[in-house]
Amino acid sequence: MDERDCIFCKIARGEMEAEVVHDEDEVLAFKDINGRAPVHVLVIPRQHVGSLEEVTRLPESVTRRLLEVASTVAEKLGVGESGYAVRINNGPDAGQEIFHLHLHVLGGQRIGMP
Ligand code: 5GP
Ligand code: ZN
Repeated sequence: MDERDCIFCKIARGEMEAEVVHDEDEVLAFKDINGRAPVHVLVIPRQHVGSLEEVTRLPESVTRRLLEVASTVAEKLGVGESGYAVRINNGPDAGQEIFHLHLHVLGGQRIGMP
């Protein structure tokens, strides 16, 4: 996937609209366009990384920051105490649709395991 055609790179560059909930230098969080829970946010590194197999291309500080921002966003959207799931869909069996690494933050209802 070329970074020029990547939807999440476009959102990160401000070329495509998104409902941003957290914005900083290396990491961005925005609402999923097809939210499947009352809280459904995607947390992405601004740098293009296709999948978990390429995660070592990210500076360690950014990898860590993705988790911190997931927690910050959950708190900000009011599910810090009730709880939430952080999920990465990686590859075909997980149904990965967008090949730009992202964390789903899901909450506001019971989030089960498959
Ligand atoms: P995954 O690749 O983890 O399976 O899912 C990608 C997620 O991105 C889906 O939940 C989908 O609804 C969301 N998504 C796809 N296109 C867009 C978009 O243009 N904007 C936003 N905000 N979310 C999107
Ligand atoms: Zn990308």
